[in-house]
Amino acid sequence: MKQDQPPRRDFLRYVGSIAALSAPALHAAASEKNRVEFPPIFDKSEKPEQTEPPGDAWEERVGVAVVGLGRIAINEMLPAFQQSKHAKVVALVTGDREKGLKIARQYHIPESAVLDYKDYDKLAAMPDVQSVYIALPNNMHAEYTVRAARAGKHVLCEKPMANSVAECKQMIEACRKAGRQLMIAYRSQYESLDRALVKMIRDKKLGVLKEFNSVNSQNMGDPQHWRLKKALAGGGALPDIGLYCINAARFLSGEEPNEVMGNIWSTPGDARFREVEESCQFILRFPSGLMATCSTNYSAHKSQMFRVNGFEAWAEMDPGYAYHGNKLRVTRVVDGKEQTSEIQAGNKNQFTLMIDHFAGCIQQNKDVHTPGEEGLQDQRIMDAIYESARTRRAVKLTPPPGKTRGPEPEAS
Ligand code: NAD
Repeated sequence: MKQDQPPRRDFLRYVGSIAALSAPALHAAASEKNRVEFPPIFDKSEKPEQTEPPGDAWEERVGVAVVGLGRIAINEMLPAFQQSKHAKVVALVTGDREKGLKIARQYHIPESAVLDYKDYDKLAAMPDVQSVYIALPNNMHAEYTVRAARAGKHVLCEKPMANSVAECKQMIEACRKAGRQLMIAYRSQYESLDRALVKMIRDKKLGVLKEFNSVNSQNMGDPQHWRLKKALAGGGALPDIGLYCINAARFLSGEEPNEVMGNIWSTPGDARFREVEESCQFILRFPSGLMATCSTNYSAHKSQMFRVNGFEAWAEMDPGYAYHGNKLRVTRVVDGKEQTSEIQAGNKNQFTLMIDHFAGCIQQNKDVHTPGEEGLQDQRIMDAIYESARTRRAVKLTPPPGKTRGPEPEAS
């Protein structure tokens, strides 16, 4: 690129190249052999037709058992599996057989593949089931991961990975010993706008990062829900939704915090927060000087935003942690004027992108991008935040012993 080009053109061109990331090429897979070609139908004055890469033949797809038929499994993941190119749902594990059969009919799963939790270990004898997707309350993640690994299955486990560092380590060890993949369902790390922003940051388009600010809040209703029971959820707002702020600060910056400060609060007398915290405010200090200031709340109207502020520009996603409809804006000074660009990076379902990354890594025997080590590191940080809130002091963190992430998802 020539040095004398005005910065505006440079940046717009760059934004254009980011938009191109959304092309299906991002997740183009080895299934090209299944492509059916048609001769062009339009005149060459029209833009060329773009088609999605084809999915794998059914028998080549990775078979998944969905374990736990709650909101995330039924409302988001099962529909996302239908758009997948590399995976197929072949079994369901649920404590409610009637619900299981209803879902099985919708997704063409045989009745015989609808299991009760007590029959979970029978998955070992079902060769069609190569992997499990665990969508249970947090306190059940460790047990169901370890049992799946022993049954010879790869594991995609929901966040938060577990309720303690000890459980996270147990899960990693069980999958390592069994020679099976363990991936934590950090969907944001597969979402197109987040990927575009990671690229922008790595390409130094925001300059040196100085601040990350984030709010993730939602107002909880039913005081009896498992999310408000400490033994099941592990904590309140922090492990459920504050986790997104921690994880985003880490994967966007590519750094690990070396000190944390935390504060927690529960309104006295509020029946919802007898066992877990209502809100948590925390600061993560990173070695480069980047500071992440975050707030998470179980009693405030839904807000799911973050802003990364660099020396030269800031980028904001609002919403940034939503299932659908996230938005990315970048603001910088161009030709002496403040200018905001809204970045487009495709509208692919982030759950499907995550599923296809997981299944693609199993098919190709490649490391996943968000393995157990990534969940373990977030758990260490959450423990330090709680410790800081308890002791009213900053808590130092040593770096993780090794890499917490595998290759970038595009590589798969
Ligand atoms: P949910 O309450 O809607 O579903 C939980 C499921 O677990 C239900 O089918 C329930 O019957 C079953 N279950 C089994 N044993 C249970 C027990 N002892 N108590 C309560 N339920 C029991 O919850 P959800 O929102 O689907 O969350 C499930 C997991 O997915 C959690 O770990 C959560 O953090 C995670 N999650 C992730 C995302 C994401 O975007 N990645 C979003 C929501 C939830």
